[in-house]
This record gives sequence, C-alpha cells and structure tokens, in this order.
Amino acid sequence: MLERAKSLDAADPLAKFRERFDVPGGVIYLDGNSLGCLPRATPARLEQVVREEWGRDLIRSWNSADWINLPQRVGAKIAPLIGAQPHEVIACDSVSVNLYKLISAALRMRPGRKVVLSEAGNFPTDVYMIEGLEQQGLAERRLSDRGDLLEALDEDVALLLLTHAHYKTGEVFDMEAITRAAHDKGALVLWDLSHSGGALPVDLNARNADFAVGCGYKYFNGGPGAPAYAFVAERHHSDAQQPLSGWMGHATPFAFSDDYTPAPGVDRLLCGTPGILGLAAMEVGVDLIAEIGIEPLHSKSQKLSEFFRQCLLESGLDLELVSPIDPAQRGSQLSFRHEDAYAICQALIARGVIGDFRDPDILRFGFAPAYLRFEDMAEAARHLAEVLETEEWQRKEFRERAAVT
Ligand SMILES: *Cc1c(COP(=O)(O)O)cnc(C)c1O
Repeated sequence: MLERAKSLDAADPLAKFRERFDVPGGVIYLDGNSLGCLPRATPARLEQVVREEWGRDLIRSWNSADWINLPQRVGAKIAPLIGAQPHEVIACDSVSVNLYKLISAALRMRPGRKVVLSEAGNFPTDVYMIEGLEQQGLAERRLSDRGDLLEALDEDVALLLLTHAHYKTGEVFDMEAITRAAHDKGALVLWDLSHSGGALPVDLNARNADFAVGCGYKYFNGGPGAPAYAFVAERHHSDAQQPLSGWMGHATPFAFSDDYTPAPGVDRLLCGTPGILGLAAMEVGVDLIAEIGIEPLHSKSQKLSEFFRQCLLESGLDLELVSPIDPAQRGSQLSFRHEDAYAICQALIARGVIGDFRDPDILRFGFAPAYLRFEDMAEAARHLAEVLETEEWQRKEFRERAAVT
C-alpha cells in the first residue's frame, strides 16, 4: 500500500500545501479536528503583531493596524467558506460563549416558546449551554435521539441546535431538509459548524440557516483556544438581540454612553475587547484554508479517509466503524468502536500516530486534508494493525488516563 500511497501523493494537487504547515517530523497527525497544525506563516505574523503593532505602535494600532476591525475582517474571510455573506460572520469569543448569545437571541425572537431542541449525545458544551439557560428559567432543554429529532420538533420549539458533522461519529446532517422542517414548525435553527467549517462545503444561505457558530482551532488552524466565529443571517440582523451587552457590541462604543444601543448587524455579537493576538493567528489559518479552497479540501479528505479504510481492510483488520461508510455522509474523520480504545490510542501516540479517544470506547482519526499525505494513511494503518496484532496496547503505561484525553 505504501507504493500506491506514494503514487497518489505524487498526483495530489494539494501536496504542495503540506510545506506551508509546520508538521513535526516523526509524527502522523490525525487530530487536526481537535487542534489544527501550525501554519508556517503564523510565528512571523505574531512576531510582527507583538513587536511592531503592540510593542512599538502601542495604542495607535487600534487604528493604524486596524485592530478594531479584526473580528469583522476575519469573519468576512470565513464567510465565503461557509456559504455566508461577509457582513453575516464575525470572529470572537469561544464557541460556547457564542452559543449562549445566539440561543438567547433565538429565544427572544420566539416569545411564548421556550424549548431548545438538540441531539442527545451532541458535543457537551452545546447541550450544557442550553442547560445553563434552563437553570435561569429562560429555556427548556429537550434532547432527542438523532432518528427522532423531527418527531420531537413541535410548536413549542423556539430553536433547534445541531452540530452539522457529529464530533464522535462524523455523521453529517442534511442541513437543508432539517432547516426546512424546523422552519415549518416556526422554529429557528442554529448550526454548530465546529467539525465541518474549513473541511466540508457548508452553504448556510442556500440552506436558509438562521444562525451558526464554529471553531477556529480545528480545521481553520487558528491555534489553541483561537477565537470562534458566529453567523447571523442578514434577515435577522435587526431582530437578533444577544444578552452579553458589552461595550464592544455597542453602536458607538467610544461615545461612552450610559445606555446600551446594539451595533447594527453581527457587530452586536461582540462583547468585550477582542483578543488581537488570537485573531491575528486565526487570520493566517483562515487565509491558508481560503487559498487552498473548500472543494479541493473536501475532495481530498474523502480520498484520504477511503484510502485509510482500504489500508485497514487489506491488513485484515475488522474494526467496527461507527462513521457512515459513505464518504458523502461523513465529515473529515473516521471513528471506530473498541472497548480498549483508550489504550490503543495511547499505544499509537507512543508510535507517533496521533489520533484521539472519545469516551467511552471511540477511537477517532481526523483527516485534515491540507497537510496530510496518502503515505500517512498507509503508515497509520500499518501501525494500527501492528498495535492490535501484537496487543501492544495491553501494556500498563497505555492504560493510565491523563487529564486531557
Ligand atoms: C470543538 C467544539 C466546540 C468547542 O467549543 P469551545 O467553546 O470553543 O471550547 C463546540 N462545539 C463542537 C461541536 C465542537 O466540536
């Protein structure tokens, strides 16, 4: 398979982008869906922001380096990658905080309805943020299994909150059909794009989405804890009011008024002073993904994951796949169920193959197409087969759990 992998790499139109990332030697990185790799341009850009814009120009940089518009600028660059208009997206805060703002905004837009419906087993922060609003008496949380969501959608539902590509299985929702079903019941829809933005085609406006949030440090390679992004469809710009009424979301923050007037459009999603270092790093990652293009990335991601599956099959491994077998139905990942998934994952990491484990029994491999090679697929599959055949994972050191798994 290694020979085939090498010829696939030789014919890969995206192969040249690997050197734009600092992929460490001796590592096969299958965790770009948790923390994307460092773009080579990021350290120099940060050095410039720190030494020149901050160190030398100090407060003047809010104007001279246009720091003040950085959340909008990065948002506008993400917009075409998720099917939005530039003025519908802003980069700020974390996914969790943006969920809070947009769930609250949706509840205010549907007076008389309190139910926020989501999928049982959705990413924890999504369901916890609903729970927090429930504890304040502002929402009623309803969780439903994936297959029963449409039945759970009734006239009490103010908002349907779903993750487009599931973080564990990679299963992708039909955004258009689900959004339409929710609208038919008078509900709004908020899509979490954390596992799709930057890797899969997302067409928010063509699917008539109301709101979306997404992650900066996964496929956008913005760095650990990078700012997230949030989308509000233009038709909701005057009605959507978020509760974190900080001064940066004010229509005229530097008028220093005693009264809050929300800024027009998505600018009102801002709360406090934006983190410029984080946004500057994020911009480099977004620029690079935009340069490569979502369609080529998606096409390569499907080929990588299919090749990885073939390599596993050829080595005779019969692992239980929990991701959809059809690449069109899944995100840029493959997940397998094994009762010793944690120890297997640790044994692989010791060999330099970094995937991740998701409680209780999921072994997850992310295929960030911007910097992975087919060769990496063949090698990772070989290591996985060896770890399983030799039962290397049984070693005691692979069974001790660290704080972050
Ligand atoms: C990674 C991820 C998040 C991250 O939320 P933060 O607030 O940025 O930590 C949220 N939702 C989903 C679905 C994710 O995969």
